[in-house]
Amino acid sequence: MSIDKSKPVLVTGATGYVAGWLVQRLLDEGITVHAAVRNPNKEEKVAHLKAAAAKSSGDIKFFKSDLLEEGSYEEAMQGCEVVFHTASPFVTDVKDAQRDLIDPAEKGTANVLESAKKIASVRRVVVTSSCAAIYTDAIDTVNAPNGRIDESIWNETASLTYQPYSYSKTLAEKKAWEIAETQNNWDLVTINPSFVMGPPLNPKATTSESFNILKQLGDGTLKAGVPKMGVGVVDVRDVAEAHFQAGYNDNAKGRYITSGHNTDFLKMALQLQDRYGADYPLPKKALPKWLLMIVGPMANKLFTRQFIKNNVNIEWNADNSKIQNELGIKFRPLKDSMVDGFQALVDANIFATK
Ligand code: NAP
Repeated sequence: MSIDKSKPVLVTGATGYVAGWLVQRLLDEGITVHAAVRNPNKEEKVAHLKAAAAKSSGDIKFFKSDLLEEGSYEEAMQGCEVVFHTASPFVTDVKDAQRDLIDPAEKGTANVLESAKKIASVRRVVVTSSCAAIYTDAIDTVNAPNGRIDESIWNETASLTYQPYSYSKTLAEKKAWEIAETQNNWDLVTINPSFVMGPPLNPKATTSESFNILKQLGDGTLKAGVPKMGVGVVDVRDVAEAHFQAGYNDNAKGRYITSGHNTDFLKMALQLQDRYGADYPLPKKALPKWLLMIVGPMANKLFTRQFIKNNVNIEWNADNSKIQNELGIKFRPLKDSMVDGFQALVDANIFATK
């Protein structure tokens, strides 16, 4: 099955951090991108996409769509052979997890994929899932068979009340596979990134949690230290390439863990030290687990004792061989992702008030 690059593609949530680089990658390939966004008239959300289109051989058309409005992606999907479904809220501090995370993730996925069943041109659907659909806490990766997660594993520990973002991604991906089974027009491929780092294309308007962490490393919030929490990290540009390959590579099949590095928050922060340590209040050391157990729950409602116990000073391990072998993805060094990401925030004067 070869996908025709002269046909348009749909990118849902085109305003997002991850989607921005995917849209740019598609435009640079000369492809026409149907960018589905909540508000095409919000210039600060779409200006970087228009700028990318102007510099490329591709073309961009905007459509107004919302995950919770049934059928609202159908117009944007007309004529597309590939649908990249990236839209889903990536926030951790929510008032109502069902309303703010689960519904847009799960119902939104059903909305987009049910529409894909009606549009005859669609041949492949790529859903941006997450390693969060595979694990909740670093300890889950250690407890996995062979001491590392792979594509055969599903998250069984997240819930509406414990790490609901991970729960939302698990329910959404399960829903996607369920719907894919009910039809024969297109095949489903999922990209399951770990924590995404690297430069945002629109630093001033980015809502992604990835960006919040990068910001907190430089604005002094974490100057006393960071929890040495095991985490996987992948560069946003590598995630875009992974999506591109998942859309256009004939061999793409199933789920793909998309993670460059088994690392932790302290190692991530230390990548910035030699270049920015003199000018920014970057964390240099790990906060002790006993201290976090006492102050963590007071500082942040998500930093419960259970979370600290299962993540702090625990390694994070994933097997990232499938995407390298099948889709030829190579991962950038961790330092490049951290430095390029931080520099993008410096250039955008995000730390102007330090
Ligand atoms: P982001 O910048 O906040 O992007 C989220 C996107 O979803 C935005 O375009 C947002 O639109 C859209 N969206 C949210 N609610 C919507 C709704 N009700 N209707 C329509 N669109 C809606 O976050 P991101 O990090 O790029 O995340 C993109 C995808 O990658 C998500 O599926 C996320 O779960 C996945 N992911 C991210 C990471 C990571 O570390 N960043 C890791 C693994 C997987 P607006 O601009 O209008 O708000």
